[in-house]
Amino acid sequence: MKKSKLNIIEGFTTAIKGLTITLRHIIAARKKRKPTGIANDNYFQPEAGVVTIQYPHQQIPVPEVGRYQLHVEIDDCVVCDLCAKICPVDCITIESIKAVEDIGKTSDGTTKRLHAPKFFIDHAKCMYCGLCTTVCPTECITMTSEYDVSVLDIKEMDRKFSVMTEKEAEEKREMLEKFNQERAAAKAAASKKE
Ligand code: SF4
Ligand code: SF4
Repeated sequence: MKKSKLNIIEGFTTAIKGLTITLRHIIAARKKRKPTGIANDNYFQPEAGVVTIQYPHQQIPVPEVGRYQLHVEIDDCVVCDLCAKICPVDCITIESIKAVEDIGKTSDGTTKRLHAPKFFIDHAKCMYCGLCTTVCPTECITMTSEYDVSVLDIKEMDRKFSVMTEKEAEEKREMLEKFNQERAAAKAAASKKE
């Protein structure tokens, strides 16, 4: 057979092969990847034609042990500062005010003795090591499955968890100061009597 004929046959064969692959993809693309958990053996769904999903309307579940945005259930926080102390990058800022009265209990029954006028976690600095969650005595600081956080100003990544207003904090500081003064006066009066 002449070389030119062989070239024509080879050209057709190659074109048919290419078109077959394209056709296979077109048919497969009628199916699309379904959101599924990482525990599913078919997590990568190689047989699915379209692998992209309609984010954010569809989302792939994140692993249960995933480390994402932190959350603090402030009502359960005893303001012990352990999380801030263990944080390797110092991204937790806590201020406490000693309470002069009983301020209740956490959901696990721990007595609360400190107010938290300030509780911030700077997620822009956080390296999501999870250490803070391991030391919390009331397990009120947790890692959530929330990973998609978009902000316009990086300062917004410094998320506030305290719920006290500055006015309330000032009142608590004044109460504590008054309490300390009264206690000191009572001690002085008692020692004078002796
Ligand atoms: S996850 Fe790690 S880096 Fe982030 S706040 Fe907790 S201890 Fe700090
Ligand atoms: S370790 Fe837990 S209880 Fe202590 S300050 Fe941090 S979040 Fe609050």
